[in-house]
Amino acid sequence: MRHIISKCRRCRAGGRLLWMLLLLPVHLSAQAGAPDVHTRSIVVDLHSDVLLQVLRGADISRKLPYGQVDLIRLREGGVDVQFFAVWPDPDKYLPDKMYHQAVYMISRLKAILAENPDKAELALSVSQIERIVAQGKLAACIGVEGGTAIENDLNKIDSLCRMGARYLGLTWNDSPPWATSGEDEYKLKAGEPKGLTEFGRRVIRRMNDLGMIVDLSHSGEQTFRDVIETTRKPVIASHSDVYNLRHHYRNLKDWQIRAIAQNGGVIGMNFYPEFLDYSYTDAIDKALKDGDARLDSMRQVFGSDYLGYRAYRSNYLKSVIDTLPGVARVVDHMDYIIGLVGDDYVAVGSDFDGITLAPKGLEDVSQLPNLTREMIKRGYSDERITKILGGNFLRVMRAQIN
Ligand SMILES: [Zn+2]
Repeated sequence: MRHIISKCRRCRAGGRLLWMLLLLPVHLSAQAGAPDVHTRSIVVDLHSDVLLQVLRGADISRKLPYGQVDLIRLREGGVDVQFFAVWPDPDKYLPDKMYHQAVYMISRLKAILAENPDKAELALSVSQIERIVAQGKLAACIGVEGGTAIENDLNKIDSLCRMGARYLGLTWNDSPPWATSGEDEYKLKAGEPKGLTEFGRRVIRRMNDLGMIVDLSHSGEQTFRDVIETTRKPVIASHSDVYNLRHHYRNLKDWQIRAIAQNGGVIGMNFYPEFLDYSYTDAIDKALKDGDARLDSMRQVFGSDYLGYRAYRSNYLKSVIDTLPGVARVVDHMDYIIGLVGDDYVAVGSDFDGITLAPKGLEDVSQLPNLTREMIKRGYSDERITKILGGNFLRVMRAQIN
């Protein structure tokens, strides 16, 4: 109870404690069975691609039989704050249509929020997050993924920020002309230019001025280095893991983890098995190769029912891959960062609905309490768990304000 009251104080500064206590049971009842510390903490997920499901026709206001996220399962998983990734797919849209697509995705999210005022509300600041969470609702935040969305125009950063975007990932796997991605830096030959251009540095400064968080997930090492040199505010890697545990250009090397710690930022742990462990890559390659003919014919059977096919494919892969990492592997990555720089820089960035398969025990967002159970099993203190589940990120968000 002591902790519940202390959460109340965080949620609503001032004299509304009684009101808070009246509302809190609504919030708690949705998370029956979750560990107390999970229920008491403000739980933040820094990255979900569920808006892609929305674009494919999913109604996320009801519990879906496929995919990894919807408003009901977010509640079951005790998530208080969800960053909805706005990702204009560079393979689908021309470079001068990326901003338009980002704006469209934001409008789709806002329409969902308008239709579900009892379940979720857009949050633009930590104080708004605290108010919305205290009302027992999901605080919905917007993060744009891919700097191509600004179409080389600083004013479009202002516009996205005005529409509610609170972070911008500088690159996706593709690169805007002013910053190189991890994938592109990995492929570039020696001597080819990498990192931020002068315009790229202006992007960072404009974001700092606006209080919009710089997201370095997907950025290449040189871009990362240039950003750390340029930014005046804490940055995030919204959905990345540890390179030393799984060598992959999407993961962070020790120097990058130290740099984020020095900068006061956070790293959101990505649940994608490919980034967590070596065992997955061979297994998925084999499963896709062995199942190629079957998947291809099922694609024809499902025809335009893309969501149905996706659910089938995911279930098929789950049935043939027996080496998926479990929840413990996610916490291994957390442990590594904590060992290197302490527990102030770890957060959660699931990447749900952007990943083909998820770890065992974290198959969808409703199972997020299992992550907390694993942290408890390893002897993490309540204070540490609360920081990882959301406290660390809220510190970063607060620090954006001048
Ligand atoms: Zn991503």
